[in-house]
Parts: sequence; structure tokens; C-alpha cells
Amino acid sequence: MMTTLTAKRTLKHTAGLASVLLHMATPAAAVRRACVLLYHRVSAAPVVESRIDDWNVTPDTLERHIAWLAAHAELVFARDLPRRLATSSSSTRPIACLTFDDGFRNFHDEVVPLLRRYDARATVFVVTGYVGRHAPMPFDRWGLKHKDDAPAAAWRSMDWAEVERCAASGLVEVGGHSHHHYDAARTPPAALADEAATCRDWLVKKLGADHAASYAFPYGNTRLGQATPAYVAAVKAAGYSVAFTTDVGLATAESNPFTLPRVEVFRTDSPAVIRAKVGGALAPYHVTGRLRGIGR
Ligand SMILES: [Zn+2]
Repeated sequence: MMTTLTAKRTLKHTAGLASVLLHMATPAAAVRRACVLLYHRVSAAPVVESRIDDWNVTPDTLERHIAWLAAHAELVFARDLPRRLATSSSSTRPIACLTFDDGFRNFHDEVVPLLRRYDARATVFVVTGYVGRHAPMPFDRWGLKHKDDAPAAAWRSMDWAEVERCAASGLVEVGGHSHHHYDAARTPPAALADEAATCRDWLVKKLGADHAASYAFPYGNTRLGQATPAYVAAVKAAGYSVAFTTDVGLATAESNPFTLPRVEVFRTDSPAVIRAKVGGALAPYHVTGRLRGIGR
């Protein structure tokens, strides 16, 4: 078991190094592209189990990422991405989005203060059916396993007052991440349509339409049937204007705005790896993405 876990982390670390080397060897792209970085939990909880906690980025690591991005990239909200990609600009800075899935309390506690410090912006995708829940969200394998030995802020979801405070900061866009976080590969299309619509209803009611424009498919892997054409159509019909998968890639003006790819961030990523990811040196992650059985 331990060997497998160490191998998984080594693979991610090696993919990061390969990405940095690839980035150094690749000329800048002529086409306008954007990197949508995908984070989940931000926690310094000292529980190390690489099979399920490599998504847990520490606040210190995140600060180093945001410091680099604020100085070198143009950070935009997810909802603004298609319009930004379609607009010409003399800026040579790469375009990037910071996105955080699941709506953990640590977004409010750890991420928003960093956004203020660096005048950065981010999009958080909340699971409306679990906002304000005082137990780990049922899809959060890490939280379910470590709820007794990690601080509650590591696994608890934000409540609506906290989500509203994030939105009121002006530095945070809130978007939808479904109502129950079902895996679309195991859910009937009618239920998925309800997941997208109910989620948006809650967001509009609580926060207004500005925070009900973006959607992130739970799990979100197209190859695994987690962002199907039927689900995409349901998200569009519900009234969202942009949606994100977990497929690896950069977004361009030619991308379908309802299946925009993202790039996962791991706790082992240095700022140099973030720079390489934003620069599009993603070949190593296409390899590791194919190996992945399940994401979040
Ligand atoms: Zn999720």
C-alpha cells in the first residue's frame, strides 16, 4: 500500500519537474490561451496520505502560487473567461483563473485573506445542497476519513453567511458545483438537469445572477462520462454561461465555453511548476491524467 502511495506522489512530483523542463524548451504560444487552475482544500492539516490528500494544498504553498500569479499573470473570474479570450489585448501576461471546488470553509479562512493581500481574484464552486453542513460532505473521502484528527475547518463546508462574505469581498466569484455532487456517470439525465437547475436557483436567490454564471462538473472527467453532452445541455438550459470539466488543457477562444478544461494543482507544486502549467507545458499531465481512475 505504502509503495503505491509513494509512487503516486512521485509520479505527480515527476510530472511537475517534466512540466518545468518542457516549459523551458517551448517557445511562447501565438494563440491567446488561459490556464484555469483547479484547487480543492487549502489546509495545513498534518495528515499525509498521498492517495487522497495531494489535492490538499497548504496555505503557505498557495501563497507562493498566488504571489507568482499576481505578479506575472492576468487573473480573471471564470465567468469572464470566454469574453476575455475573445478580446484582443496588448498585454503579454498569460491569462489564468484560480478555481476552488467544493466550497470548503478553508476557502473563506485561508484563501480570501491571500486574495486581499495580493489583490488577486478567484472563483469558488459550491455544492448548494451541502452549504452549512456540520459533517464532512458525503463525497469528501479525505474529510470522512480524517474528521477526528484534522481541524473542522479542513473539511467543513462554508455556510451561506460565509459564502456571502466571500462574494461581498469583490475578489471572489461564486459558481455552482451541483446540488449533491453526484457522479454523472452513475446518475440519470433527469436528475442531472435537476442538480444544475436547483444549484443555480439557490445561487441566484442567495447571491444574485453574477454568482450563478459559472458551473464546475463534479468529478468532471469527460472520458469517464462525468460531463456528458446531456449534462452540458442541462447546464446551459439552467442558465449558466460557462462550465468547466477536469480534463487537462488550456482554454482558447475556440474552446466550447461549456466544457472548458482545467489544470489540477497538487501540494507538491512549486511556483516554477505553476509557471510551467500556466505556460501550457501540460504533456506530463496528459499522461498522468490517463492513469487517473477518479478525481474530484
Ligand atoms: Zn467536487
